[in-house]
Amino acid sequence: MTRRWLLPLTLATAMAIAACESPDTPVRLTPYQFRLAGTDTVFHWPDSSLPVRFWVEPAGALPQYVDRGLRMWERQFLYGEFRGLRVSDSAAADVLVFMEGDPPPQAPLTGDPPLLVCEGVTLVPARQADPSGGTRFAGRLEVDVWWYAGFAASDVANCLARVTAHELGHALGIFAHSADPNDLMFLRPDAPAPSLRDRSTIQVLYHTPADILPWIPMPGSPAVAATTPIR
Ligand SMILES: [Zn+2]
Repeated sequence: MTRRWLLPLTLATAMAIAACESPDTPVRLTPYQFRLAGTDTVFHWPDSSLPVRFWVEPAGALPQYVDRGLRMWERQFLYGEFRGLRVSDSAAADVLVFMEGDPPPQAPLTGDPPLLVCEGVTLVPARQADPSGGTRFAGRLEVDVWWYAGFAASDVANCLARVTAHELGHALGIFAHSADPNDLMFLRPDAPAPSLRDRSTIQVLYHTPADILPWIPMPGSPAVAATTPIR
């Protein structure tokens, strides 16, 4: 670095920079891949599905982690392209969220360094033909999370909050991972919230034509759809 860059800014320059950093100004970073590997599927929830309905198993603070994750993702959009809602009737849900194993210990979230003491997976259903000529998912999306015993309750809570938010990113349609560990959608998420690159990626995804529609009950739907797991 040369000292040239350390010269004091003029007031006008400083004001211009402040304006550029206002929260309403779109900041774009190069998005990462969001298509489903091997199929090139692009999926995002259409306007007609909003708010997307999430049923969440009442295990520990899992419902609160889902609410928190949904609000985080909603804030990444400029025009309300995604809205999520937790519902009490699983039959009326678009996405099911389960806690595998025992309910987790509950503890307030902290800023402690992240530990990988939990994991999650999002199950993307197979597709089926739709009478409109397009294709639809053959079932609901499903998110499963689980945790490991023997760790501090706060570390488990932090991990579950983080991993739940990551899995919700998959459930919104990011069917791949970022290669940058600073992003929430990195394979092993350390980031507590969507980064600017996550933000750019979800915005680009929601402005890319989707080639598959969400599941709706219809004749010929399999009782249990085959799924592709995304960790
Ligand atoms: Zn993942």
